[in-house]
Amino acid sequence: MTTPRLLILGGTAEAADLAERAVERFAGRLDVITSLAGRTRQPRPLPGRVRIGGFGGAEGLSHHLRNESIAMLVDATHPFAAHISGNARRACARAGVPRLVLQRPPWTARDGDQWIEAADAIEAKMRVRDFGKRTFLALGSGELEVFRGLRNVPLVVRVADAPARPPIAGAEIVVARGPFDDRDELRLLRKHRIGVVVSRNSGGDAAYGKIAAARRLGLPVIMIARPAPEPGNTVATVDDALDWIAARRGG
Ligand code: NAP
Repeated sequence: MTTPRLLILGGTAEAADLAERAVERFAGRLDVITSLAGRTRQPRPLPGRVRIGGFGGAEGLSHHLRNESIAMLVDATHPFAAHISGNARRACARAGVPRLVLQRPPWTARDGDQWIEAADAIEAKMRVRDFGKRTFLALGSGELEVFRGLRNVPLVVRVADAPARPPIAGAEIVVARGPFDDRDELRLLRKHRIGVVVSRNSGGDAAYGKIAAARRLGLPVIMIARPAPEPGNTVATVDDALDWIAARRGG
């Protein structure tokens, strides 16, 4: 009998943890494969097998699921990676493959936070324009696109990999990769004399430092809400995802 295959749609810390723990827990009884989009230049090494690159939409992914005899899929992608999650839902339905979404809970505002909620990057840009202060953007490439046309507001943009050309003309670029702790974020916001922070509501610990630092400095945070989640089985922790796998795998 062939070993059942688990496909993890990855690119997050949770996906990496899941791969690590699934390889350990189901050693020899489950073939663990992580799929990465290929955006990061040097992804951290992962246990199990790794495949890199897009599938070619929902149809491509459903072919992949069938051709590779995938027994189950865990969508552990970033909460803002909406395309791949939609594709995963459609592809699994088409190929008859059980699918679980592993998604960390969003952050909620605490005492002292000054959050301004924005439905999306377009609304966030309008709020930034209203403030007109030096703004720190810790966003993905999709959201940064939206900020391109913004004039007369000094911007400091953090990106994970040094870009071939600045994502926004005239913006100051900081190249750094998380996790970011509160103290370093405090230093960064002070050093760049930031007046406003723009963040996505990513959740988790690795990116929370800037939120804690903004609270400490009394700075407003324009918080971009998550895109609507895909319907279906959803868990918030790697433990629960492992239990879901075990229930399908048997043990
Ligand atoms: P996206 O907009 O939802 O996806 C765009 C396309 O990239 C998808 O249609 C798919 O191409 C391909 N893709 C995305 N994730 C993939 C995966 N895990 N394996 C294979 N192909 C994948 O995604 P995104 O926002 O660009 O994010 C890309 C990756 O970076 C995701 O794996 C995500 O978990 C990770 N990530 C994203 C963010 C973020 O801010 N969005 C932050 C941290 C990590 P095809 O249609 O050709 O299959």
